Amino acid sequence: MQVGDNLKEIAKGKAKTVYEYDEEHYLIEFRDDITAFDSVKHDIVGDKGYYNCQISAKLFEILEKNGIRTHYVKLLEPNKMLVKKVEIVPLEVIVRNIAAGSIVREYPFKEGTVFEKPIVMMDYKDDEYHDPLLNCDMIQALGIATENEIKKMKEIALKVNDVLKEYLGSIDILLPDFKIEIGKDKEGNLLVADEISPDSCRFWDANTNKSLDKDNYRFDKGDVLAGYKEVYRRMFGEVPKQK
Ligand code: UDP
Repeated sequence: MQVGDNLKEIAKGKAKTVYEYDEEHYLIEFRDDITAFDSVKHDIVGDKGYYNCQISAKLFEILEKNGIRTHYVKLLEPNKMLVKKVEIVPLEVIVRNIAAGSIVREYPFKEGTVFEKPIVMMDYKDDEYHDPLLNCDMIQALGIATENEIKKMKEIALKVNDVLKEYLGSIDILLPDFKIEIGKDKEGNLLVADEISPDSCRFWDANTNKSLDKDNYRFDKGDVLAGYKEVYRRMFGEVPKQK
C-alpha cells in the first residue's frame, strides 16, 4: 500500500493527480504521463513523475530559502508531494528571459534573443479557450484577480525568475522561460503552487543551448527523459541507479 491509496481524488490533470490529504493539505502525485498541444500528443515516459517531483521539490525549497512562499511542505514518497491547500488562480504566469516557443511563433521576436528586461505574460488557464493571453483589464473583468493581486503576482514571478536564474546558472542551465501557477490560501496569501519542472520551464544547456525540457517531446527534438535526467544530475549530483 502506498500513500494516496485510500485518499479521495480531488482532480486528475494531464500529468498530476491531486488527493485530499487532511483539512490543511493536498497530496500531489506526479505521474509518468506527458502531453503537448492540449493533449493532442500523449505518452507515458517511465520515471518522468519521479524526476519532475524531485526537481520541483528542490526548486520549491530553494524558493522558500530565498523568502518566496510556496505551497510545498515535503515529499511523502519519491513521486508524491504534500502541499498546503490553496485555490489556484486560473492564470499561467509566464516569465521570459530569452525568446522561444509561442512568443517567436506569434510575435516578431527572433528565437534566442535575450530580453534586456524579463517579459511577464499571464495566460488564461483554460484548455477550452486554448490558454489565451490576457491583459490586466481582462483579468479584472473576468473576476480572476484584483489590480493589486496582479501587481503582487508579477512581483512574485520576477522574484522567482531571479532566484531560479541564479541557481540554474550555477549548474550551467539557462532559463529561457517558465510558467508558474499561483494559489491563494485561506488567509488570502499568494503562494507559488503546482510544479516547477522541465514540463513547465525551458531549460537549455548553457554551453550548447540544447533543450533539457519538454520541447524534446513537443517537437521530437531528442530523448525527453535523458534531458530530465540531466537536469536532475546537475541538481543532485547523480541519477539514482535503479532509474
Ligand atoms: N508552459 C507551461 N504550460 C502551458 C504553456 C506553457 O508550462 O500550458 C510553459 C512552457 O513550458 C514554457 C513557457 O511556459 O516554459 C512558455 O511557453 P510558450 O508560451 O512558449 O508555449 P509553448 O511554446 O510551450 O507552446
